[in-house]
Amino acid sequence: MNIDALDLPAFRPGWVWLVGAGPGDPALLTVGALHALQTADVVVHDALVDDRILVLANADSELIYAGKRGGKPSPRQPDISARLVALARQGKCVLRLKGGDPFLFGRGGEEALALVAADIPFRIVPGVTAAVGGLAYAGIPMTHRATATAVTFVTGHNLSGKVPDDLDWPSLAAGAQVLIFYMALKHIDEIVGRLIGAGRSPDTPAALVAHATTDAQQVVETTLAAAKQAAKSVTPPALFVVGEVVRLRDGLDWLGAISGRVLTADPLGHGDLRDAV
Ligand code: SAH
Repeated sequence: MNIDALDLPAFRPGWVWLVGAGPGDPALLTVGALHALQTADVVVHDALVDDRILVLANADSELIYAGKRGGKPSPRQPDISARLVALARQGKCVLRLKGGDPFLFGRGGEEALALVAADIPFRIVPGVTAAVGGLAYAGIPMTHRATATAVTFVTGHNLSGKVPDDLDWPSLAAGAQVLIFYMALKHIDEIVGRLIGAGRSPDTPAALVAHATTDAQQVVETTLAAAKQAAKSVTPPALFVVGEVVRLRDGLDWLGAISGRVLTADPLGHGDLRDAV
């Protein structure tokens, strides 16, 4: 069946679609995102959007890069928003393509509000965020019955590039069973220090998941105390995961299993499940 049969919304001239491209693997693209790529006149994309996704854009569309390149600073956010508005006013079908999900640490809200201010009609197409895609490919569930009933997404740095100060670190350290930090590599030392300082055990299992869902994916299992050292072996983009759920990887690293890793059915030592199945 062709996706045309789905009667997806038409991309109208003068509209901007803010679309999530997922963490990397094109298999994680939504049908809505693929449809947008096939019908957009112009695609304004970030550095985090994988090349294997950009090639899915229709041959007549113009690709505009709006991220950091060669150490140069990225375009200012107001400039990107102004560009989206200008392209829409030219009557183009404008696809603003962002890594992961546009509304999770993606400034999608800011860009959409700029569209509202300029009276530009828009649509949001969510994407698989890096934590969801990355942990699935790392074999680490975000929640697990009796081990983790809550998960918290945190940004490792705020607008001014610093570890957020307006966060209640003691509550995070004590209350959030699973913490997933985005943009954490630069300040990993400070993040770890704050969590341990607020009472989280230095032995808490942790993992770094870098270049998740791409061929360059790298997963390093560590502990809170050893995370700074472990972080030296990965490059951005990376997620920093803290919580007991990391131990489940011994049983769930399905990608590793494809290349020969032997999985254990009882990674938490809760008793042999084989009797139960
Ligand atoms: N809107 C995006 C997040 C953008 S912030 C989303 O929903 O995923 C950029 C941060 O996302 C990076 O610093 C990193 O922490 C994370 N990230 C994005 N893609 C990633 C990937 N393929 N692997 C690991 N982390 C990734």
